[in-house]
Amino acid sequence: MKPMIGITASLECTTVKIQRVNIDAIESSGGIPVIVPYYRQEESVLTLADSLDGLLLSGGSDIDPTLFGEEPVPQLGSITPDRDWLEGILIKQFLIKKKPILGICRGCQILNITAGGGMYQDIYSQTGRSLLQHAQQAPRDHASHWVTIEKGTMFYEIMGLEKIKVNSFHHQAVYPLAPGFVLAAQSSDGLIEAFESEEHPFVVGVQWHPEDLFANQMEAKKLFAAFVQKCLEGKKKKEP
Ligand code: MN
Repeated sequence: MKPMIGITASLECTTVKIQRVNIDAIESSGGIPVIVPYYRQEESVLTLADSLDGLLLSGGSDIDPTLFGEEPVPQLGSITPDRDWLEGILIKQFLIKKKPILGICRGCQILNITAGGGMYQDIYSQTGRSLLQHAQQAPRDHASHWVTIEKGTMFYEIMGLEKIKVNSFHHQAVYPLAPGFVLAAQSSDGLIEAFESEEHPFVVGVQWHPEDLFANQMEAKKLFAAFVQKCLEGKKKKEP
């Protein structure tokens, strides 16, 4: 028995696109990856959501700031309203049903926004402090900065470490966290790099890209393993 895990993809012009490392990480961890298409009918999204055991929100472009009550600042990058719409429906369903969600980079941002939190449209112009290089120039599979993990969190239990190294490809970041979400890891410049829900078995957002570290980093493997395991536990409860 293996859990079916939906993976959201980018919509680039008229093409649905997903980096293969996302699929590999889920499959290698014991799940069956299912790429979620761009349906036009909400009913289609809801029907698919019902049959999935977990949701991986993959990385991608910026979030429409009107979704969190702001207008676009000049530093905002390209946005994909169709994607915001699709992921919003999926996230709400998964939160209601208490099914596992792993949000990666953009995925953690849309997760926090949909749950009622906020974010920086652009960290460099909006935090009011000097920051690390979060849009790293190093290769995607290179972990470039440290994050400190909060003791007492599920994330700490998964990692068993106080600090891990992560890669970094973002100019946006979540802040403040949605009600029910708590800090799980932060960078040395004080950005929220990971969070989790206190009210769900597994709702985790990470600002980095563990799928790109998966092949060579134990911490990335641990995160995907924990996610897929929770998806399997949920599936077993539903269909024993
Ligand atoms: Mn970062």
